Amino acid sequence: MSLVKPRPGILDVEPYVGGESSLPGVNRVVKLASNENPLGCSPRAAEAYRALADQLHLYPDGGHGELRDAIGGRHGLDPARIVCGAGSDELLALLGRAYAGPGDEVIYSQYGFLMYPIVARTAGATPVMAPETGLTANVDAILDRATPRTKLVFLANPNNPTGSYLPAGEMARLRQGLPATALLVIDAAYAEYVIHSDYEPGTQLVDAAPNTVMTRTFSKIHGLAALRLGWAYCPQDVAQVLHRVRGPFNVTAPALAAGVAAIEDQAFAERSRQHNARWLAWLTEKLRALGLDVPPSAGNFVLVRFPDNPRLNADAALRHLNARGVIPRRMAGYGLPDSLRITIGLEEDMRLVAEALGEFMA
Ligand SMILES: *Cc1c(COP(=O)(O)O)cnc(C)c1O
Repeated sequence: MSLVKPRPGILDVEPYVGGESSLPGVNRVVKLASNENPLGCSPRAAEAYRALADQLHLYPDGGHGELRDAIGGRHGLDPARIVCGAGSDELLALLGRAYAGPGDEVIYSQYGFLMYPIVARTAGATPVMAPETGLTANVDAILDRATPRTKLVFLANPNNPTGSYLPAGEMARLRQGLPATALLVIDAAYAEYVIHSDYEPGTQLVDAAPNTVMTRTFSKIHGLAALRLGWAYCPQDVAQVLHRVRGPFNVTAPALAAGVAAIEDQAFAERSRQHNARWLAWLTEKLRALGLDVPPSAGNFVLVRFPDNPRLNADAALRHLNARGVIPRRMAGYGLPDSLRITIGLEEDMRLVAEALGEFMA
């Protein structure tokens, strides 16, 4: 036995397991397990990435200036309050490390993104789960659990894997009810997909009070998951803290260049948004017509809940979909063993899923 031991809490971390991407013996696999963009990425982003292939010996711009300017220009935000990271995952982890430690509490919602309790435990803090109602974050349940020890509150809006979202009014009520000493982190990874007029990604709350952060990602609508690129819009002092704890060159040069090109190619983002809106509605309706429970989703995926019956449950559905070459995401790790999460893919993928689940339910 080694005498070398990690800090308390680290060995309590349940390692994050990503979506599967291959099936033994299946040639054409339809991977719908990780909410990736079925349209790929902007061709201009791919070109910007390739253009850096002969400059790999140079360090990237550690200040991320061009990308922060592009993001700020696009969203009407002060670039000085934008911090870029290697995926929003890095920013969530840095917030955990900087603001929470042993004895502190980190609140997350029952079916929230699995990274939040991982971030809390990695920081040595205590994760505190707030139960949801109807697969939707419950503001009162979160407020009930807030104490002077609460340092961070993580909330994905819209949430993965449930697809539910909280309207702007509920988010404002949450911020108002939390202690001023608790930093509210709004993870808006799916913001660009939301079509509801009562939704606000979080910028207004960040501007309204010095204790709210919004994180965003290039992994979803911009289709750059492989490059690991995300950003946070923060109060000025939180931005300064993140700059202190992040690596000096935490974002690679090809990611920075592709990110700028992706921001400039709004036509690609718009195509992605429209594709998603169309096939999200189509798949939701088709699966509901089969008698399946599909809660409304504001993201680029659906949660599908299966009957509690060994022939028709989520495990049986998973085997059936796998046999047709489709890989959805199992939800047992989220405490939803009766459910599968299916990403909105290409038209042919969606037709295949509907057909396969039609056979399954027949
Ligand atoms: C996909 C996703 C992210 C994005 O993570 P990256 O590290 O930016 O790829 C963040 N939060 C949630 C809830 C997600 O589903």
